[in-house]
Amino acid sequence: MRDGARPIRAPFRFGDKRPHWWCYKRAMSKRHAEIAGAGFAGLAAACALAQRGWSVRVHERADRLRTTGAGIYIYENGLRVLEALGAYDEAVKGAPFAHTREVRDDQNRTVSVHRWGGSRVYSIVRQTVINALGASARRAGVEIEVNSTVAGATADGELILADGRRLKADLIVAADGTNSKVRDALGLLTKRKVLPDGATRLLIDKLPEERGQDGATTVEYWSGSRRVLYTPCSETEVYIALTMLNNDDVATATPVRLDAWKRWFPHLEALIDRCGGEARYDPFELIKLKRWSAGKVAVIGDAAHALPPNIGQGGGCSMMNALSLAVHLDRERDLAAALDAWERNERPITDHTQRVSVALGWPTTWPPALRAFTLSLAGKSKWVVRQRTKTALHRPTGT
Ligand SMILES: Cc1cc2nc3c(=O)[nH]c(=O)nc-3n(C[C@H](O)[C@H](O)[C@H](O)COP(=O)(O)OP(=O)(O)OC[C@H]3O[C@@H](n4cnc5c(N)ncnc54)[C@H](O)[C@@H]3O)c2cc1C
Repeated sequence: MRDGARPIRAPFRFGDKRPHWWCYKRAMSKRHAEIAGAGFAGLAAACALAQRGWSVRVHERADRLRTTGAGIYIYENGLRVLEALGAYDEAVKGAPFAHTREVRDDQNRTVSVHRWGGSRVYSIVRQTVINALGASARRAGVEIEVNSTVAGATADGELILADGRRLKADLIVAADGTNSKVRDALGLLTKRKVLPDGATRLLIDKLPEERGQDGATTVEYWSGSRRVLYTPCSETEVYIALTMLNNDDVATATPVRLDAWKRWFPHLEALIDRCGGEARYDPFELIKLKRWSAGKVAVIGDAAHALPPNIGQGGGCSMMNALSLAVHLDRERDLAAALDAWERNERPITDHTQRVSVALGWPTTWPPALRAFTLSLAGKSKWVVRQRTKTALHRPTGT
């Protein structure tokens, strides 16, 4: 199914100082990209490439643009990328500024409070961000093919679809998530680790008294190895994330076992009673690649660098690397050189983000008193705060 039309482009822009033959030659050699996956990474790459003159087609296996999970935090870095892609206004419409994060121990005592000052962070319904990116991609002329499952790719630039089609392109972008078929067809994986913990996510309706508040305070309640995260994420909804160890069968069960969660968090009984709706559980994963590209294929998003969500940056890094990929390909016409420069420049901040996110997951398995003590110290340490906010404060390439 074709969705979105290609625009007719003038061969050169008004006011362009370059000679006509140069503009004409460049326009005539319009490059084509095929993208696997229409999540944060795939749609961001599609927008960024199409805005730089590429013809782009995205393949999404689902029957429409939709995302798993409920809410998402997008920090300054990701918000800058959304601005550069023309998706910001629609993405943050109605979303609260998530200005404060409180951590509470097993006795419901506050152990740390972090206030975001000087930089933005919004908590948003995920589907709103995907819709905004999808709309921006279509405006830029991207063709989005839904019900189109990718089976693999070759390094010489052929995307292989499950229905047997083989599509040639100047660039293939693998943005097909943690179980990426494209990445695996190219043997790029060096590490894939299921971490000991995971999360169940859901959206609940706001109560009248929760509406109309100025911004959002996230509250992270601990009880043993389990956690309840409460985050208002729109005018009408609250994002709830329940985290636990993966071997905790009662805690990972969906629909959420309200009786058990109320026993573990007696002070949150009224909140947990509201968590009986549709919920989704996912274990956290860590993925690392030998290289982020092979021949004409670039791998982005969770397919390249999945990380636990302890600093809420998987989507942010996915969008940063998608935009920077397009920027590097625009700066350097030689594909191999551009992909080398892209990885060399962009990978260090993603590697840092992965290290910090993994380290912040360690306390989950610690005894409650040690965890509360550590989290309280970490909340006061300027060095720790610098490490955890470094990605959010990073200025993404192309913004
Ligand atoms: C509990 C939890 C909380 C999180 N919270 C945050 C947060 O607050 N902030 C943040 O920035 N990040 C967060 N993340 C991380 C974030 O969700 C991911 O990093 C992000 O979704 C990655 O985007 P992606 O496009 O690479 O992959 P995905 O979102 O997985 O998208 C991949 C797309 O590819 C499609 N696809 C897959 N296989 C195929 C195929 N074979 N053919 C065609 N299409 C295919 C899928 O249907 C999907 O649409 C969280 C993650 C978890 C698990």
